[in-house]
Amino acid sequence: MGSLVIREWAGFHQFPAATQTKLIDFMGKLKQENVYTLTILVLGKGGVGKSSTVNSLIGERAVTVNNFQSESLRPMMVSRTRAGFMLNIIDTPGLVEAGYVSYQALELIKRFLLNKTIDVMLYVDRLDAYRVDELDRQIITAITDSFGKEIWRKSLLVLTHAQLCPPDDLTYDVFCSKRSDAILRTVRTGARFWKRDFEEIPIPVVLVENSGRCNKSESDEKILPNGDAWIPNLVKTIINVATNGREGITVDKKLIDGPDSNERGKVLIPVIALAQWLAVKWFVRAIKNDIKQGKSPL
Ligand code: GDP
Ligand code: MG
Repeated sequence: MGSLVIREWAGFHQFPAATQTKLIDFMGKLKQENVYTLTILVLGKGGVGKSSTVNSLIGERAVTVNNFQSESLRPMMVSRTRAGFMLNIIDTPGLVEAGYVSYQALELIKRFLLNKTIDVMLYVDRLDAYRVDELDRQIITAITDSFGKEIWRKSLLVLTHAQLCPPDDLTYDVFCSKRSDAILRTVRTGARFWKRDFEEIPIPVVLVENSGRCNKSESDEKILPNGDAWIPNLVKTIINVATNGREGITVDKKLIDGPDSNERGKVLIPVIALAQWLAVKWFVRAIKNDIKQGKSPL
């Protein structure tokens, strides 16, 4: 099991006043909907900025950020309470090991999540990467196979390293939408959604800049090149997904063990018996017909 740390949300006071005001407002809205706990699962490849995003969200150095790929293999849940509200964020190891999907990491994450309900999943990748490849699709398929397709209805795409200067003559907004469209297309195919089903409930995209060198607004909030204060925007989007009317994803033993082949076999027994009975009936009738018509049965 990974470690669990529950503390008063001290990092809240590290945010600039403008951010604090917005966060208090969002939390008030959650309470109006009788939501007092939010559990957020953070998934993605290694080195994309998962742990940094957890720290940015909490306003504390709660989890270790790695400059090199030697990440811890254990998930870690950081819990913070504030004014009767509890925020749980689960940081996880990267889902790639030696160029392949790490099913071992996914297994560990699933076991760690036993009896927990995921309200929101952050799928993290970098904005400043140029390709989406087969491995990305396989990661998305592996997440879908582990937690079910519904997890994508409780997800948002987080793109880190968002303080960038787009290449050539692309504007910032065009660059961002090209990158996010490419990843979202991969989510659709990797999670095996029909195009229409996928577009019905769009997965929101949030840009993030975890670097200490992130530009700031006059009110001291961290802002992106398009002027957006990204921390309140991220929290707001998380809350929108949490309250989008879909159930959270509860990780129970059945989900962890996968469909039990014995159980599946038991369900199939009456179906097979019925098929056999129909086949025998059809065969007997065919023989009787043949006899009636004077043909010799097979
Ligand atoms: P993880 O493996 O996905 O948890 O990634 P980490 O959070 O450990 O980050 C990996 C490296 O990327 C660290 O050196 C971070 O400082 C850096 N990093 C993470 N997010 C950002 C970001 O938004 N901007 C920049 N410039 N660096 C980032
Ligand atoms: Mg990490």
